[in-house]
Order: sequence, then structure tokens, then C-alpha cells
Amino acid sequence: MESTEMKGMNRRAFIKAGMVGTASALIAPPALAETLQRLAASEPSTSPKLAYRTLGRTGLKITEVSFGAMLTPEPEVIRAAIDQGINYINTARKYMGGKNEETVGRAVKGVRDKVYIATKVLSESRTRAEIVRDVEISLKTLGTDYIDVIQLHDLTGVEKLNVAETREALTQLKKQGKVRFCGVTTHQNEVAVLNALADDPDRFFDTCLVKYNFKSDRAVTTAIARAAAVGIGIIAMKTQIGGYDVSDLGKITPHQAALKWVLKNLNVAAAIPGMKDLKELKENTAVMGTPFKYADLRRLDHYAEAIAPFYCSFCGTCEAGCPRGVEISTINRSLMYAEGGYRDLSLARTTYAKLPQQATAAACIDCIGCSTRCVNGLNIADKMARARTVLT
Ligand code: SF4
Ligand code: SF4
Repeated sequence: MESTEMKGMNRRAFIKAGMVGTASALIAPPALAETLQRLAASEPSTSPKLAYRTLGRTGLKITEVSFGAMLTPEPEVIRAAIDQGINYINTARKYMGGKNEETVGRAVKGVRDKVYIATKVLSESRTRAEIVRDVEISLKTLGTDYIDVIQLHDLTGVEKLNVAETREALTQLKKQGKVRFCGVTTHQNEVAVLNALADDPDRFFDTCLVKYNFKSDRAVTTAIARAAAVGIGIIAMKTQIGGYDVSDLGKITPHQAALKWVLKNLNVAAAIPGMKDLKELKENTAVMGTPFKYADLRRLDHYAEAIAPFYCSFCGTCEAGCPRGVEISTINRSLMYAEGGYRDLSLARTTYAKLPQQATAAACIDCIGCSTRCVNGLNIADKMARARTVLT
């Protein structure tokens, strides 16, 4: 039965108010409550139709559109997603200069049991002490006593999968109840990483967060199928290939079509599009349970055409043709963080700064004519010049 208050209230306004009330009452001091009110006022919210899939052998039932938090500056946005039923959040210590886990921690306060948290150790960590230290810091920052999925961050090859100390540390953390499942993440050499996970006789890792989108090579789809067949839980990232501004393509967003393309593969348990605000939350979660149609395909064709001058798939093919060993794919990824939908200059510069000096775009300054070629037709010399301007 509807309350007296409800009768006098527009139903959508009621839903909005309910969402704001739930989240702000639990986490927000006055300033944050105001932020949430402002966010809700600027973008009406309705609850999405939830759809769940099983995350491989972990058995976790997660929402097929889950939450990529790397771009989210305010905990209220994440909390609104949790209140709507989104139950898997992906973060990392590296994001936002370490602030991202803190933001997630504030969002899950009081509702930790309603959500699974995935985070990552630092990409350079591999010894027992480093892995344990990373997890302890994450637990503290997140304000939780367990992490659902801990991931080795940003694998570009298979070597890190088999480091004995890393596995020992993760096993110890599992025994202590500090982590539940172990996974990896990869943006490059995805096929090799997925195949290595599928072939691992120890079945040590349970999940793989992998770059996967409508521009991915067919070999990635095949490798995902192989890994999923042995129980690896597959989560897709970079699903909207950088989220470049496409306002000139008209009113209908291609980002939903890109998400649907990923989710039509039932070997993918979930996608974790990065969401900055309630508008993006609404746009992404509305995709759950909806089919990929011919109109979506057309939309993606237009999108691919529009972003062709910028789009790097990070395949690394061009790197073999560079005599100086410039890491072109990582430099382009850093540029995407700065100039794509991410608009995160700090992440862009942090990613770029991790490159050895000789692998940065500085090596191109006195190179007489770029000798390497991009499979997608990008002008690599121009991109490297742009990187020197934007990333340093
Ligand atoms: S300009 Fe091209 S070939 Fe020369 S160092 Fe840079 S990426 Fe390599
Ligand atoms: S610049 Fe081209 S060849 Fe090089 S990593 Fe990017 S897409 Fe691949």
C-alpha cells in the first residue's frame, strides 16, 4: 500500500529520493549528501532490470553490468549503484593516485555484505612480502577485512603467472581469510595470458579481467572460450574502447551498443565499464538483459569510423619495427587515459612514468623517420609527439 507521502509524489521523484536517502543517510556527512542530491537532481535515476551471471569457478553470481570504479571521484555514485543492486566493484590501488580504493571503501561502508570487491596488487609486486604488503594496505584503505577477488595487475605476458613466491603469498592470504579468490588482469597479449590460465595444471587463478570489445581480434574470443571452459571467470574491461566523445554522431550513444556486443558472448560473466557519474551509471546498467541488434551493429560501424584516427588496440605489433624499443602500445594507452572518455591526466602520466626512459616517446625525438607501421593506420610519429606534449 502506498503511503500518504507517496501519493503526493511523482513516482520517479520517489525513487530518486529513496536512492538519495538510502545512500546519504548511511555514508554522507552534509557536504557529501549535498553532492548526492546535486547528482541525483542532474540525472534522474530509475532502477535497472538486473541480470546475473556466474563468475566461473568462484560461483559468485554477479550483475552482468558491474562497476568499474577507476574513474569515479565520488563514493555516492558507487553507492547509488549498490543501492540499485549492482554487486561487483572493481578498483585498484593505482587508480587516482591511491584514492580510488578509499572512495570504494566509503561507498561500501555499512553494505559490505551486499557487494563483491575486486582490487589489485601493484603491477611490479611479486615477492611474498610485496604481495602481502599490498593486500594489507588495500584491506585497510577499503575498510574491510576481506577482499573477494585479488588480481595481479596488468599482465603483458605469462611469466608473472608462475612466480612461486607470488602464489605462496596468495595462498597464505587465502588461508587467513583475507582474500577469497585470485585473478589476473591483462590489456596486452590477452590471448597468451588467457591460454596460459586455461593450461595451468594447478588451476591457481580463478578469474581474468581482460580487455575485450567489438574491435578485439577473433583470437581473443576463442581464448576467452577456452579459459571459460575450464572455469576461469571472465570479466571484460575497455569495453567501450576508450569512451571517446561521440556527440557528433547524434543522440544515440554507441557505448550501449559496445557493451551489448561484449555481453552477447555468454563466456563473459560481466563487463565493468568505468562510470564517473549517475548519467553513465544509468546508461550502462540499462543494457542488462537487452539483446544486441542490427541497429547496434550499424552504430558500432559509425563509432569505429569516427574514432579511427585515435584508436590503438594496444596490440604491440608496431613495436617490433621500432629499433629503439619504444613501448608504443603503453604510450598510446596513456594517451587514451588523458584524451579518451577517461580524461584522467593523473592516471595517464602515472602509467607513462612507469616506462623505462628509453621506452618513452622521448626516444623518438632524434629518430630520422619513423620506420614502424600501425596495423590500424595510426600515424605513430604524430602520436609519440603528442605523448611528449601531453604526458610529461
Ligand atoms: S619515431 Fe618510430 S621508429 Fe623512431 S623511435 Fe619513435 S616509434 Fe621508434
Ligand atoms: S599503434 Fe597500431 S600497431 Fe601499434 S599497438 Fe597501436 S594498434 Fe597496434
